[in-house]
Amino acid sequence: MLIEQPARFLRWIYPHAVWRMNPNERVVYLTFDDGPIPEATPYILDVLDQFGAKATFFMVGDNAHRYPELLEEVRRRGHAVGNHTYNHIGGLSWSSWKYLYNCHKAHRILQTHLFRPPHGWMRAVQYRTIRMFGYKVVMWDLVTRDYSKRLNAQDVLENVKRYARNGSIITFHDSLKSIDKLRQILPEALQWLRDQGYEFRALK
Ligand SMILES: [Zn+2]
Repeated sequence: MLIEQPARFLRWIYPHAVWRMNPNERVVYLTFDDGPIPEATPYILDVLDQFGAKATFFMVGDNAHRYPELLEEVRRRGHAVGNHTYNHIGGLSWSSWKYLYNCHKAHRILQTHLFRPPHGWMRAVQYRTIRMFGYKVVMWDLVTRDYSKRLNAQDVLENVKRYARNGSIITFHDSLKSIDKLRQILPEALQWLRDQGYEFRALK
């Protein structure tokens, strides 16, 4: 399926971006985008702790600015933090200068070398400049689509079961759109992954 598992041609557009980690290791990399927010992030942190799982949070700078204690807590519990711009802006609809400034604004708070473009797209010049800043651009191997109004919690769980594989970078969201679904299925998804023999690691 094109959306859940990005096609090969998409992966070629950003040749140095990371889509999937080592396919020979029984490891998955859980990522949570768009937080941190009090309605979602603390719950997710508790579930991760129950499984001793480390993950990566691609944060919106504006949210981290509003909830610095959550940014702190994510780091304190051993997870990685990534930059997801300051205002969750799409690279295609913004001038490159404004886009890069927005990334930089988020960087001042988040202090990370991991970057994920909102909506998965940015212009070539933005991509190149972000890399020149020293960022590693991280995309994904599996989008659970937990944000989608068309999917229920079970559908999201099914996406995990259908598409997770060695080295998968799996995208969830700590957002208002997804948290009800995650409350229903995140523990089960992690249990299922563990039963399949996967380890959970944060990105570096
Ligand atoms: Zn996002």
